[in-house]
Amino acid sequence: MQTLRQILDHSSQGGVAVGHFNVSDLVLLKAVFAAARELQVPVIVGASEGERAFLGTRQLAALVRSLRDEFDFPIFLNADHTHSLAKALEAAHAGYDAIVFDASALPFEENVRQTREALHAVKAINPAMLVEGEIGDIGTGSEIHDTAPDLTAGLTSPDQARQFVEATGVDILAPAVGNMHGMLHSMVLGETRKHLDIERIAQIKKAARVPLTLHGGSGTDDNDLRQAISAGINIIHMNTELRVAWRQALDRALAQQPQEIVPYKLLPSVIESVKQVTSARLRLFNRM
Ligand SMILES: [Zn+2]
Repeated sequence: MQTLRQILDHSSQGGVAVGHFNVSDLVLLKAVFAAARELQVPVIVGASEGERAFLGTRQLAALVRSLRDEFDFPIFLNADHTHSLAKALEAAHAGYDAIVFDASALPFEENVRQTREALHAVKAINPAMLVEGEIGDIGTGSEIHDTAPDLTAGLTSPDQARQFVEATGVDILAPAVGNMHGMLHSMVLGETRKHLDIERIAQIKKAARVPLTLHGGSGTDDNDLRQAISAGINIIHMNTELRVAWRQALDRALAQQPQEIVPYKLLPSVIESVKQVTSARLRLFNRM
């Protein structure tokens, strides 16, 4: 089986991106795995500190590893948005394939210092673990927001990107290129979409020369996503779209079967709904 690094290298050549989907329960994990397996495309499952705290850092690693081994399938696990060295070490010890070390809220120099420190510490435990660093402001919370934050001051410049990658040695970079965590109500309703700064992505790619991740992909215009991949994005994160599908399908299942108490009779329709959202995004990312 190919390593995640090999898959990312091939994604650049093939003009495709690897889908990264956050999970916080078994319903979401089963949905993401089923979608990727049906389409036969590699996939990354992500869990933030909050999602890991709920699922269990080591328990999620065991679940993903069991899927990879039993089905001989390229499913990888990422410790998303990790803010402390202690949590980074915990993920490395648990066998995660990749980590997003996120000190982006700190001043640039401090972000560099902490990211470097975390990178050396996790590579000492597992040299194959890929480390992603983040610069710029893409907001917080994969939730539904009432108003859009003004993130224009926090856009990543190509110079910053190059400096950051050189100073930290990160394997992957997450820039701020018009993307934003979470969705607005109008995006959930399909009335508005996020748009990306494609030219900035291309310039950052040229300057940084590492795989790039687009965070906060939910609610982004399809054509912007295609152009972003062509401009150099290798990984695309989706969380809020899956959470919206999960909640809406769960509401429907409970309303349709008010007397049902058996989880495995209520939840398959929820898995199916999340799987459909995941499949649509994987098709787009993989040009299918
Ligand atoms: Zn993110």
